[in-house]
Amino acid sequence: MGVQHHKMFIGGEWRDAADAYEIRNPANEELVATVAKGGADDVDAAVAAARAAFRSGCWSGLTGDERRAVMLRIAEGVSENLEELIELEIAANGATVRQAGGFHIGLAAPHMTYFAELAAKHEVERGIATAPYPTISHNILRREPIGVCAGILPWNFPLVLSLWKIGPALAAGNTVVIKTDEKTPLSTLAFARIAHEAGLPAGVLNVITGDGEDVGARLASHPDVGKVAFTGSTAVGREIMRLASQTVKKVSLELGGKGAAVVLDDADLETVADAALFGCCLYSGQMCESITRLIVPDSIHDELVARIVARAATIKLGDPADYDTDLGPVISAEQHERILSYLQIGRDEGATVATGGGVPEGPGFEKGFWVQPTVFTDVTNDMRIAREEIFGPVLTVIRYSGDPAEGVAIANDSIYGLSAAVWSGDYERALEVAAKLEAGTVWVNDVHMVTPELPFGGYKQSGLGRELGPDALNEYSEVKHIHVDLSQRREARAYDMVLSDG
Ligand code: NAD
Repeated sequence: MGVQHHKMFIGGEWRDAADAYEIRNPANEELVATVAKGGADDVDAAVAAARAAFRSGCWSGLTGDERRAVMLRIAEGVSENLEELIELEIAANGATVRQAGGFHIGLAAPHMTYFAELAAKHEVERGIATAPYPTISHNILRREPIGVCAGILPWNFPLVLSLWKIGPALAAGNTVVIKTDEKTPLSTLAFARIAHEAGLPAGVLNVITGDGEDVGARLASHPDVGKVAFTGSTAVGREIMRLASQTVKKVSLELGGKGAAVVLDDADLETVADAALFGCCLYSGQMCESITRLIVPDSIHDELVARIVARAATIKLGDPADYDTDLGPVISAEQHERILSYLQIGRDEGATVATGGGVPEGPGFEKGFWVQPTVFTDVTNDMRIAREEIFGPVLTVIRYSGDPAEGVAIANDSIYGLSAAVWSGDYERALEVAAKLEAGTVWVNDVHMVTPELPFGGYKQSGLGRELGPDALNEYSEVKHIHVDLSQRREARAYDMVLSDG
């Protein structure tokens, strides 16, 4: 099969650009596809299409039940096209077949279904009883769609993270413009096709592909965009906020993390060893809510590290399409270089490489961007490898006395606050620690548990607002208060504050 060229999806039509990106397989660097490289003009066209669709009422004018029906058809379409989507995600993202089926793509239909159900449950209008001051009145609260909502996406979970924006935005009656990451637009473009075939009206969902500084920046500052939802690095998140401030857009941000797990001295070591590796190695550590700092009491440190190192040796790197592969490549040459530079920084800072620490060698690894699962010990929380997001399969192990307060203090000593975990055999002790950890999600005796039913987002510089959960549509709606005077008497109103009698 030849290499396919993909266009952008704007106003229900496929639109090409003069330039194109090459999408390469991170496991072997082979060309997978080419994709239109859009520009600011394409943003303007997409926003105009979304605005026209919004104003026409073709979507915003539907009832929640009607929107639910279309969204459920889209979810069915995703399920029907599962094989194609999984293949794209393996080829363009380096997701292993098990991860793509269970997570990257496997979660797309259930998440879309969840948002479809929220569309039907969304309370659009509610009467509020008020005190009869200054005059008797009836009051109505309405939740109305914002208008055109933009989503700017990273490369790590292009489809699921798109749906975390598209799903609630559509459910609340908005229209959407998505900008995918330059490296991973294929599954989101395929989703746009599926949504169109399922009956989503033209202009309601638009997908553009282009550079961040050009297309992303135009979208974040466009006067006709009412909200921008961004997932990506904290540095770009700050820039998005700055750009959006020019027109006072609503902003939600899902940014970086440096997740910490506090292990208490009564934790089950075998489970913690597995969880530590699952926490830092899933999708080669390229997850914002990865657990990358393991905070371990002196009393169990050596035994736990020995178990983690032994377990790490069983992780099989290789062809992501092979069902037996545990770990695939990292996304790009740039990320590869960045991760390797952190491995060197860790050594230079005095940390010890307990396992991994480099690039695997031999057949299958001649091309592509590979990093061994790596565990650093002798790490202190002031080292760069403990403070900065590496975004690779790298775990830092930090010792503490065993006093939970000290473990919590180390965990919270970070600019980030996306995820954290605590491990203990005693739920009371664990919950006391969980309450003190500064993170949007805290797992007790688990990691990586993210579900559409529960809100997800960050404390501190990990973000702003929450995605998912029963209130997800609130981030995509405006609240309007309508006051209806019921007194019908001129003299009962408060006009005499300005207008004297007579
Ligand atoms: P990135 O911030 O470099 O890029 C994200 C998106 O922003 C891309 O689409 C990019 O083109 C765009 N962009 C870049 N510069 C821009 C600008 N000046 N204006 C507008 N848009 C611009 O992030 P990345 O490297 O693609 O992704 C990795 C980061 O994402 C990590 O820091 C990770 O923690 C974070 N992340 C967070 C979550 C979360 O939910 N909190 C989820 C996944 C990834």
